[in-house]
Amino acid sequence: MPATERTVVFILSSSHSGSTLLALLLGSHSRAAYIGELHKMFNAEQPGRCSLCDDRKATCPLFYDVAERTPLDIYRSLFERTGKTVLIDNSKRLKWMTQHLDDDSFNKKYIHVLRDPRGVILSRETRGRTTKLSHWPKQNRRFYESLSAPGRESRLVLYEDFATRREQTLRDLTHWLGFEYEFDQLEYWRVEHHGSGRNGATSAFLQDAGTADPAFYKEKARQHFHDMRWRDQLDREIQDAIAQSDPVRLLLADMGLHLTETGLERAR
Ligand SMILES: [Zn+2]
Repeated sequence: MPATERTVVFILSSSHSGSTLLALLLGSHSRAAYIGELHKMFNAEQPGRCSLCDDRKATCPLFYDVAERTPLDIYRSLFERTGKTVLIDNSKRLKWMTQHLDDDSFNKKYIHVLRDPRGVILSRETRGRTTKLSHWPKQNRRFYESLSAPGRESRLVLYEDFATRREQTLRDLTHWLGFEYEFDQLEYWRVEHHGSGRNGATSAFLQDAGTADPAFYKEKARQHFHDMRWRDQLDREIQDAIAQSDPVRLLLADMGLHLTETGLERAR
């Protein structure tokens, strides 16, 4: 396969924004592979492991020798081992993405996944994590500005878009990757997905999905749903503080978006 036909899709996103679900759906195309949060495999203190192979107590066919590899040579092996043309990297980090900007052995495409900050903050709270309100607009402004640089082929995907119009959103993105859409992509749990990361989306195929709310995800596994728990569960004062925060409003205005009672929407 000529190197120029190979593409890595780098996802940039705050945590708890639905990027894993999107990465799994895209990585279920017959010519693409999900590779999880790849940057975690290179965490010096606690290297990430393949969640699927951990569950199966098996040697991972993709990541078995990752400890001997470098971040810069891993993609070549992953293209060879998966036999796919497109790799979906859900690392989400800007620092990881920029490390690979100069690598011309593959094409690069970028997806910024954005979810209503009220939903993001509720998910963090559910996991017992406190959050500074300023973090979300700061992080997403960095993603937005980086992907606005000339020559970066990128798409913005709203969690709300693929929660409510999943098939259309997926179809558009699959075409953007240069493929025909495959209906089977929707049932992503029928495909083997290797890589680190456990959350609500992986609960459709992992025994222990490691979520903060296993009962919710057990009920929802393998269903398509729009998570709007923030409307009932996030303190009203916090909801208002987020919606009225200047950095949030400025960022959304720059991106042509706004918050409504039901979530994040594109301005018309
Ligand atoms: Zn594996």
